[in-house]
Amino acid sequence: MEINGLTKTCGLIGNPVEHTLSPVIHNYLAKLTGVNMVYVPFLVEQTLLEDAIKGAHALKLGGLNVTVPYKEKVIPCLKKTDALAEKIGAVNTLVPCEGGYMGYNTDMPGLYRAMVSDGIRIEGEQAVLLGAGGVARAVAVMLADKVSKLYILNRTLQKAEAIAAEVNGYAGRAVAEAHRLEEYTSLPAGKYLAIQATNKGMYPKTEEAVITDKGFYEKIHTAYDLIYNPFETKFMKLVKENGGRAYNGLKMLLYQGIIAYELWNDVSVSDTDAEEIYTRLKEKL
Ligand code: NAP
Repeated sequence: MEINGLTKTCGLIGNPVEHTLSPVIHNYLAKLTGVNMVYVPFLVEQTLLEDAIKGAHALKLGGLNVTVPYKEKVIPCLKKTDALAEKIGAVNTLVPCEGGYMGYNTDMPGLYRAMVSDGIRIEGEQAVLLGAGGVARAVAVMLADKVSKLYILNRTLQKAEAIAAEVNGYAGRAVAEAHRLEEYTSLPAGKYLAIQATNKGMYPKTEEAVITDKGFYEKIHTAYDLIYNPFETKFMKLVKENGGRAYNGLKMLLYQGIIAYELWNDVSVSDTDAEEIYTRLKEKL
């Protein structure tokens, strides 16, 4: 593509940012949709986050993604926060607004769009969420509206309890229960939809899984691991070995990026373009 005086610059802020796949998504989207835009990663030091946001505004950057460790910390630096992002308590997309940026969360709708595109039913399911970190919170907000029951299992019980209390408040019903990870043994009988939202099993520790007991996997009919490197995690292998369907987090990454791109450029990305970018992402892994 030709970079000229009208090229819009968007990017990612985080620390680290070296291994991000987001430039693949956005630069290829710009090519496919014919938008004059480039997307670059920006490494931002902890103490300079506010300066970075002010600088981005001064330079009229057309949009930013925000990754670890700034998804919560960036909120006080923004002019406005969208209602969903406020509910989740984390922002991963900044859109220019009067005087600065408005914060959105596209991780959650990204996961929902990914699950729908994989044909996964959420409504009315009983679900197990493994993990209670930043992304698990967004997943819990999405699931609490839709599932019949949500069991949040985490190594640190207090974090699971805090999320359960919050989403029960939003949902207006006692849909979520918090437990320690090892309490999977006491899940009521039945088959579950599982979302794996811990770090365990990520490259390079690809032989690890947050739970290894076959007894747990026998209860899972469908599972979504938010990790996408490796492409098939140990958790996914265990689900499949026990007769379940398992998906990784690459489509979530794709759709959170697509939704951000749609916000920045006021366009709608077609399913064909989404498929094409997904293929390219798989090649880059
Ligand atoms: P985070 O806030 O750091 O939370 C990490 C979670 O993993 C916590 O629940 C933590 O438990 C748990 N955990 C970490 N090490 C563990 C271990 N050895 N045993 C058991 N539990 C462990 O991270 P995050 O931002 O939520 O990200 C979580 C995962 O989602 C990562 O794998 C990340 O790659 C993935 N992710 C995917 C996408 C995507 O687009 N596909 C987007 C964002 C994140 P404690 O609370 O006990 O510490």
